[in-house]
Amino acid sequence: MNWEPWTGCCKVSDGCTNCYFYGPHAKRYGQNTIEKTDKFDWPIRKNAKGEYNIKGNKILATCFATDFFLPEADEWRKEVWTFIKERTDIDFLILTKRIDRFPVSLPSDWGAGYDNVNIGCTVENQSTADYRLPLFLSYPIKRRFIACAPLLEAIDLTPYLHGTDHVTVSGETGREARECDYEWVLNIREQCVNAGVTFWFKNTGTFFKRDGAVEKINPFRQSGMAKELGIDISDGKRLF
Ligand code: SF4
Repeated sequence: MNWEPWTGCCKVSDGCTNCYFYGPHAKRYGQNTIEKTDKFDWPIRKNAKGEYNIKGNKILATCFATDFFLPEADEWRKEVWTFIKERTDIDFLILTKRIDRFPVSLPSDWGAGYDNVNIGCTVENQSTADYRLPLFLSYPIKRRFIACAPLLEAIDLTPYLHGTDHVTVSGETGREARECDYEWVLNIREQCVNAGVTFWFKNTGTFFKRDGAVEKINPFRQSGMAKELGIDISDGKRLF
């Protein structure tokens, strides 16, 4: 289940080049218009009986078409943290390319982190990994994962896997997408095996290179094909 408390975004690094927000969505709603959505307080809304509209025991993934740590959302985020704190029965999954802004507007009672918050730091190449991941590991976060998305080159994650629960890898989707090489994916998987970290190959991307040949994969086939390759490593716990 997805929850978008606000919408709009600005490019921050190479991985954003072909972000779908800059495609049809941007044409319709404007490129950099960052505004609250009508679902801003959705997790704490109640019905006439006083029950939450969203039942508990769920995973709520947030900010897939924006970024949780946008500067424009600094004030809104203070309020959103209070919603997250209130709903201890929901696991919130936050994926970001702006982990360096994590400390801004953090609640005063955050301590070692809220138990129900799982933060994913996105990296697309070695330079974003080397900048973002040391910061990511230095912050008080109880549950963390690394999302290599879109994977644009081989990445050495080994210095950063200690203290990380999980790694996901996805290729880039779209007509202008850059190639995703299966060798890079397998290499990251091997790093995870060696570090005892779980691994999920989520998506091949549109142009998937394997055994020296590049195949164009239909968007509806990309996750299925990644799954069929059978390289995921799970510990039985559900993350998404
Ligand atoms: S941070 Fe995410 S949502 Fe924002 S432009 Fe980059 S890829 Fe798109």
